[in-house]
Amino acid sequence: MKTLAPSVEMFFFPYVGGGHQIPMIDAARMFASHGASSTIIATPSTTPLFQKSITRDQKFGLPISIHTLSADVPQSDISVGPFLDTSALLEPLRQLLLQRRPHCIVVDMFHRWAGDVVYELGIPRILFNGIGCFALCVQENLRHVAFESVSSDSEPFLVPNIPDRIEMTMSQLPPFLKNPSEIPERVRGMKQLEEKSFGTLINSFYDLEPAYADLIKSKWGNKAWIVGPVSFCNRTKEDKTERGKPPTIDEQNCLNWLNSKKPSSVLYASFGSLARLPPEQLMEIAYGLEASEQSFIWVVGNILHNPSENKENGSGNWLPEGFEQRMKETGKGLVLRGWAPQLLILEHAAIKGFMTHCGWNSTLEGVSAGVPMITWPLTAEQFSNEKLITEVLKIGVQVGNREWWPWNAEWKGLVGREKVEVAVRKLMVESVEADEMRRRAKDIAGKAARAVEEGGTSYVDVEALIQELQARTCANQG
Ligand code: UDP
Repeated sequence: MKTLAPSVEMFFFPYVGGGHQIPMIDAARMFASHGASSTIIATPSTTPLFQKSITRDQKFGLPISIHTLSADVPQSDISVGPFLDTSALLEPLRQLLLQRRPHCIVVDMFHRWAGDVVYELGIPRILFNGIGCFALCVQENLRHVAFESVSSDSEPFLVPNIPDRIEMTMSQLPPFLKNPSEIPERVRGMKQLEEKSFGTLINSFYDLEPAYADLIKSKWGNKAWIVGPVSFCNRTKEDKTERGKPPTIDEQNCLNWLNSKKPSSVLYASFGSLARLPPEQLMEIAYGLEASEQSFIWVVGNILHNPSENKENGSGNWLPEGFEQRMKETGKGLVLRGWAPQLLILEHAAIKGFMTHCGWNSTLEGVSAGVPMITWPLTAEQFSNEKLITEVLKIGVQVGNREWWPWNAEWKGLVGREKVEVAVRKLMVESVEADEMRRRAKDIAGKAARAVEEGGTSYVDVEALIQELQARTCANQG
């Protein structure tokens, strides 16, 4: 840990949903390991989710703490989507900022209302949008596509002005990117948060997407700090096990199961913290996995039930007859319901591949673990992440989903069992192509680890931001 003088006080204000909360907590811990005094602003519901890891950091002497606001966000849960209104936190946040006046506050983009509050108080506000440089560049340049001349939802068009030749289809995009007149109020709010901000904190690393990192840095005049993969701050088994929330499975059972497998022989399949797949899709996945004859751990999170069916998560007939029993008897597969210790699983020597929905955290975690991926994007910027994985980095195969899913709505793009089986075999069965993907994935994992070590690009960016904040403080005091 570095000792700095004067000490910089940084606030981190994460969103309540998993895909954004988890990396912001990690970022706060990473900055604390560089000596910045880091405070995580939490709510009564979210504090217990990361209290233990912060207490452990404090025992190691890191300058990190949690401030729990007096207000809470109704219905907050790690699995909530991006649109929950968190503005109940406005007043307690304002009071806290008035009282403590930190050197900066890192704000998640889903706190759409927070821009003005922080701006009025003159505290530098750093945006955290939870995605990488490639996806940011794709989003930015989609604005220049003449969608009116694209004949159908499935006709490929070229994403302009980016270093690689990337084709997408309209079916892979959210409505507001195809039609600016349909930009919802909440997306406008996020854009406003970007305006007048001091800069942007990006969870990625330079060598993952150098051409895109350069574009972002030049666009934002170096007010973009690329500091990831932040998940590397989870060094102990406890940190990795409890990250996000305590796992639904006893982690030792899970590790014992993995320990019983040959090195590099198991597929890990998970769709992140908030996706809800319908029973028909789960059924196809199960058939596809079984037909592939590969060993697997499959995390079944929330299930998208037809409300009229009135079923509870975890029950219901969404698995083929006798599936779980067969998997147990043959030892082929482990089906986990609920929350899995993803970092622990991914870094296990038995894991060979990762079937992922391409959420940005999962993407980075797969990259950091050096495992090639089967890409199954669903929503948000995940279709861009798929392009990065499969076409730029060439460390994955596409399952073939082409339909952007308006989160929590009716399911459109059912992917059949044959596609699942083909993708799993392509990734898991020995072949020149699969070996090449694996070699490239291992190579990038090495670069990820180096980025956060002393002198690495992310390490340097963390230091640069801390020093910039220190310099401002000295200038203001002078
Ligand atoms: N995660 C986990 N266990 C689970 C599901 C998710 O630890 O069972 C973590 C995962 O490691 C990642 C985050 O939750 O850090 C999910 O973020 P991502 O961006 O991949 O997807 P999202 O949940 O935002 O769709």
